[in-house]
Amino acid sequence: MTDLIINEPRPDDLVLSQAKQSGLATQMKQGLDAPICLTWELTYACNLQCVHCLSSSGRRDPDELTTAECEALIDELARMQVFYINVGGGEPTIRNDFWHLLRYAVDHGVGVKFSTNGSRIDAQVAAELAAMDYVDVQISIDGADADTNDRIRGEGSYATAITAMEHLAEAGFGEFKISVVMTRHNIEQVETFKAMADRYGAQLRLTRFRPSGRGADSWHELHPTDPQQRALYYWLLDHPEVLTGDSFFHLSALGEALPGLNMCGAGRVVCLIDPVGDVYACPFVLHDEFRAGSVRDTGGFAHVWQESERFAELREPQSAGACASCGHFDACQGGCMAAKFFTGIPLDGPDPECVLGHGEPLVQAATERPQGSDHSFRTSVQLTSKPRSAG
Ligand code: SF4
Ligand code: SF4
Repeated sequence: MTDLIINEPRPDDLVLSQAKQSGLATQMKQGLDAPICLTWELTYACNLQCVHCLSSSGRRDPDELTTAECEALIDELARMQVFYINVGGGEPTIRNDFWHLLRYAVDHGVGVKFSTNGSRIDAQVAAELAAMDYVDVQISIDGADADTNDRIRGEGSYATAITAMEHLAEAGFGEFKISVVMTRHNIEQVETFKAMADRYGAQLRLTRFRPSGRGADSWHELHPTDPQQRALYYWLLDHPEVLTGDSFFHLSALGEALPGLNMCGAGRVVCLIDPVGDVYACPFVLHDEFRAGSVRDTGGFAHVWQESERFAELREPQSAGACASCGHFDACQGGCMAAKFFTGIPLDGPDPECVLGHGEPLVQAATERPQGSDHSFRTSVQLTSKPRSAG
């Protein structure tokens, strides 16, 4: 794997034959000695309050891992031969020791891809990043214009992200990533996002909006409509160079499979370490139900990854449940566990965005929706103006 990925479960560049994908998927379903896609949220502190934040970030947790604990964890990951990590938050660059930890990881053979809103990427930082090996940067932006973006990410955040992109391009960083969460209000801007990436010599990365964190509150307003999903599926088939982390595999039920492994990697090849060292099955399931242990426990991260009962359960063959009779199950696998969980659908039910329409009635009928952990500021976070119609 050469591409570094953040906040996403699967390798973007695993473009394999169908037979190889199938064999690899079988092996991965049983779990690997070490995760191939490990996301580490360094802090819940953030200078923005995006309405769809998957970790409900805002306030720093006073118990977050210390610098020494972070260094020890990097040492352990190096021993486990985890060759790269995806670092996020919150806004990871807010931590005073962020740049130290970045260099520490790289110096110990652990490459870093970090996700940022761009607020700390000035010309000097961009030049320093461009001079480093094994570091990749992912700038988050959720609208192709300030109006669309800032209603989701906050006033001024579009300009901040664009300025960071300009600095990286001028510094000759190379192919940094531009990361966009697909919502009802930006999904029709994909061509403009692609042009933006081309303009800066970057790679476009589109990810699925999931009802995790504050995304649960904005799900009904933001998740794409069925026609929009279908249009995106065909656009992705026409643009295999656009990265997705395989996050749209539920759309493979529409026909030809999108590139990727078509499986939920949670606890099998994917996991998340949160700012206080708790380990979860994937970045989108920050809930006790999917907590496997803590890097602070005896045996550290390796013990959690290799011995946790929760991960062992996830590595067992999963029931197809309500999707068992669906002719598209091989392609879709019933969709995303996180999307089901936080919309109140049973884990063996269909995805809330099932392309056959089987998910929506269950979402409407759900009486309870689990709440994830919340690190938001005390003020409520809302879309900043009336959403446009779906178009
Ligand atoms: S729960 Fe959803 S987001 Fe997490 S690894 Fe599975 S499919 Fe991906
Ligand atoms: S019924 Fe289940 S397997 Fe079939 S398309 Fe919908 S979510 Fe996928």
